[in-house]
Amino acid sequence: GNKNINSKLVLLGDVGAGKSSLVLRFVKGQFIEFQESTIGAAFFSQTLAVNDATVKFEIWDTAGQERYHSLAPMYYRGAAAAIIVYDISNQASFERAKKWVQELQSQGNPNMVMALAGNKADLVDTRKVAAEANATGFVLQLTCLQEEAQQYAQENGLFFMETSAKTAANVNEIFHEIAKRLPRV
Ligand code: GDP
Ligand code: MG
Repeated sequence: GNKNINSKLVLLGDVGAGKSSLVLRFVKGQFIEFQESTIGAAFFSQTLAVNDATVKFEIWDTAGQERYHSLAPMYYRGAAAAIIVYDISNQASFERAKKWVQELQSQGNPNMVMALAGNKADLVDTRKVAAEANATGFVLQLTCLQEEAQQYAQENGLFFMETSAKTAANVNEIFHEIAKRLPRV
């Protein structure tokens, strides 16, 4: 029969990785080039139909700044799902993402569905047409990080997708995949 599932979902990751942009794209279908930094956290909700169920996501978009770190458990505690976001052009944001995964593994709900989002995937294409020597190095670097992220996700029980809030690539898909993986109560 048809089931309605309410599901708390939290986005975590470095400042500037694109958490708010992913939510804005998913909830409103929009993208803002100069998205303002989130203060504290912001709440959104969006409903998705998957197979036999309707999933209502209650989405907490967190700030990502270190000074708000102590607030993070309020948002991930009791969350059924998390999207940990990094910027594919920023290695440090990937390192930060791994820290969040560790924190969720030790403090979060053990059944949490976790997605790793390598965001700003559109930058690969942008840079490919830039000066060729530079572009080749850049694309190589992105490819290495992509492989590292894929492997990291596999080893840590997350699923991995490269997304772009700008082009909308894989944005609905990542939420859809989470919805499919949520335990049916
Ligand atoms: P947050 O701090 O993680 O919430 O990041 P924001 O959503 O505020 O995004 C930070 C900046 O990156 C903003 O200027 C966005 O317009 C930009 N941005 C976010 N997602 C993407 C993306 O997929 N591609 C590109 N090119 N820029 C993005
Ligand atoms: Mg934000």
